[in-house]
Amino acid sequence: MMHQISETTQNLLDQYLELVLEANKKINLTRIDSIEQARVLHLEDSLSALKEIMEAPQGLYGDLGTGGGFPGIPLAIVTGRDTVLVDSVQKKIKVLDDIVAQLGLSAQITSFAGRIEDLALVQKNSFSLLTARALSQLNSLLELASPLLRKHGRLVCYKAHVSDEELALAADLESMLGMKLISRRSFTLSDDLTYREILVYEKVSHPRIKLPRRVGLAQKKPLTAR
Ligand code: SAH
Repeated sequence: MMHQISETTQNLLDQYLELVLEANKKINLTRIDSIEQARVLHLEDSLSALKEIMEAPQGLYGDLGTGGGFPGIPLAIVTGRDTVLVDSVQKKIKVLDDIVAQLGLSAQITSFAGRIEDLALVQKNSFSLLTARALSQLNSLLELASPLLRKHGRLVCYKAHVSDEELALAADLESMLGMKLISRRSFTLSDDLTYREILVYEKVSHPRIKLPRRVGLAQKKPLTAR
């Protein structure tokens, strides 16, 4: 990998994976329950966008719809960035808070148990970097991310295959939301099966509409440009 990972960092990553799989026996955090699979589909995958992550401006990082903490916790461990894990399911956040405390990372990694739209009311224009894996279509992601990002902040989207239609619907909203696609890269993970696309959007200007809209709308009724 492009980034040297120290032994201490590797130990934290391993410890985290074990703690998640242990917690997963009690609460549904991930469908993946073997350590071998989790190493590829969670750890390797989370770190697969490290290049894009390192290119984002310094400052606060947020993982939107973090679920079991992917990609947020591995990226926080490797980059050392101040991190906020966001999920609306309280009991998932509770489990993550416990795991983060056990890793001794509570000063660096905090959480928000609530909707992304509600975080945008209290932490407007605050984030330099956001990630989202397995959360929503690109158009919804742009709307959710825009009010949270400071100018030049970046949204890194972990996607499976992105259709031309999905990309076009998002492209149509870029100017309204003050977001701009700056890079797109695809590859398969080391299992030679899992296809990944990493799309990066930058916040280039203030959105032209008032955000966030009412809770739920960004995902249920995505904006349309026409
Ligand atoms: N990123 C994780 C989990 C993906 S599942 C992974 O890739 O493994 C999507 C998660 O997003 C769920 O845990 C769900 O509770 C959360 N979520 C979906 N919409 C949300 C919203 N508007 N605000 C906060 N959390 C949301």
